[in-house]
Amino acid sequence: MNVVVCVKQIPDPAAPQSLDASHNLDRSGKLILDEADTYGVEMALQLVDKAGSGEVTVVSMGAAADVAGLRNALAMGAAKAIIVSDESLRGTDALGTAKVLAAAIRRVSPDLILCATESSDGYTGTTPVQLAELLSLPSITFAKSITIDGTTVKVERQTETGYDEVTAPLPALLTVTAGVVEPRYASFKGIMAAKSKPVEVLSVADLALAGEVGPTGARQEITDVVATESRQAGEKYVDEGDGAEKIVAFLESIKVL
Ligand SMILES: Cc1cc2nc3c(=O)[nH]c(=O)nc-3n(C[C@H](O)[C@H](O)[C@H](O)COP(=O)(O)OP(=O)(O)OC[C@H]3O[C@@H](n4cnc5c(N)ncnc54)[C@H](O)[C@@H]3O)c2cc1C
Repeated sequence: MNVVVCVKQIPDPAAPQSLDASHNLDRSGKLILDEADTYGVEMALQLVDKAGSGEVTVVSMGAAADVAGLRNALAMGAAKAIIVSDESLRGTDALGTAKVLAAAIRRVSPDLILCATESSDGYTGTTPVQLAELLSLPSITFAKSITIDGTTVKVERQTETGYDEVTAPLPALLTVTAGVVEPRYASFKGIMAAKSKPVEVLSVADLALAGEVGPTGARQEITDVVATESRQAGEKYVDEGDGAEKIVAFLESIKVL
């Protein structure tokens, strides 16, 4: 079973962040593997292990030629990485990202594609489903448990009240939640092995996508960014023997009771 995991390299969330002149996150510094994507990598490794054959390929897109985050996924156990890296990708929106990932993934023809539910820096949560549409694959989002049964994938799909059981024929695309598995730490042996695993670097020209990426291909524009309003201080009630009545009156005032 061959599984592709889409992994995004993002600026370290622990470092100070800033926006560039086009209101985009400044990604010019060191990039790391998005922690949200480590769940997909772990899930893929476990599914391939269970199947007894196949491999995990990580696929990424980014303007910078940084591959440290991909090496991290390789150190966890992925067999190889593909990164589409090109200066012309700067300013690419979510649909453009999906087009690039789709073109790269077509070269691999996997049985299953895993993505995180949303990235930790962009948060649109739209790339995976656009990717599935472009590849004409069924997609199931918010997977909290995944089982492969022959040519079918069975998913427990997280909902607000519990979960739905959903099945789809393979190949399919799934987005996983942080609860799906516990990602492993890369071992020293894994880190050393990752150094010699193949990382294929593709350009936009290799995928024949010139004109569909970057600001020219983008259908979204970030026109402004404003800080969220700071939270108002709450009202303080001192219990002078009438605490319960005050709570009930408050809950009635906001129509909870
Ligand atoms: C108008 C606009 C301009 C932008 N300009 C820039 C820019 O100049 N420079 C820049 O770096 N970014 C830019 N971005 C953001 C970048 O295009 C986003 O990474 C992209 O839109 C994906 O959205 P997201 O991060 O919200 O992904 P989500 O949909 O939240 O991600 C969900 C999952 O999809 C997969 N995924 C998403 N992105 C990637 C990726 N790149 N590689 C591999 N897997 C991925 C991962 O599995 C991820 O966990 C721009 C976005 C917009 C809308």
